[in-house]
Amino acid sequence: MVIRDKCPRCQSSQHKKNGHIHNGKQNHQCHNCGRQFVDCFAQNLISADTRALIEHLLVERISLRGICRAVGVKLKWLLGFLVHCFEALPDHLHGQPVAYHGDVMMQRLAVEADDMSSFVHKKANKQWIWIAMDAKTRQVIAFHVGDRSRKSAKRLWAKIPQACRQHATFYTDQYVVYAGVIPAAQHRAISKLARKTNHIERFNNTLRQRVSRLVREALSFSKKLAHHIGAIKLFICHYNLTRAAA
Ligand SMILES: [Zn+2]
Repeated sequence: MVIRDKCPRCQSSQHKKNGHIHNGKQNHQCHNCGRQFVDCFAQNLISADTRALIEHLLVERISLRGICRAVGVKLKWLLGFLVHCFEALPDHLHGQPVAYHGDVMMQRLAVEADDMSSFVHKKANKQWIWIAMDAKTRQVIAFHVGDRSRKSAKRLWAKIPQACRQHATFYTDQYVVYAGVIPAAQHRAISKLARKTNHIERFNNTLRQRVSRLVREALSFSKKLAHHIGAIKLFICHYNLTRAAA
């Protein structure tokens, strides 16, 4: 139980009674800053063990509501925790050091309008996930979420580790925007990416299943693009760790 005799925002002890909140508890309002607060409440602390368990469950095929039921947390808390997890994800995406002289596959993955409608509101507003994958380790070394334009291609390029940008060979389809982004000497545009992109296709399938589920379930939550990108990043980090262990 937490007991307050001061305003939690400005620490003033000047406050008045201000009706009752939904559960019947006495509400107060600070004279100084106007903040409303109750003076007595149970603090709902989720243990470190439970948090660690939830972090594991978030990348498994279990619904967010399923996690709530199994672990005994509220959906609202879980969504807040999810954002906290997204923000803590490393920019290196848990990728192993890339063979800088190796091959990198680049591809744009269209995200189904249905999966994304929860946050873009318009079916026409398609988002594309740009992926750069190391051909040998099959880890994702960079990703970008955006439109299909050259600007997006540049954004992806900028996120690829510099040594890799200088030395690796990049395999793409023949989509025109890559020219002028990838130096011509390092660029191989191939008509049928077939064998080279099998790994990306597999990645794509899993991403669709896992991430779209994550997004679809938390409708109001995933209206924010940043959270959607967070869900994609969470998946990529997990994918890279799985690849590293394989
Ligand atoms: Zn105050």
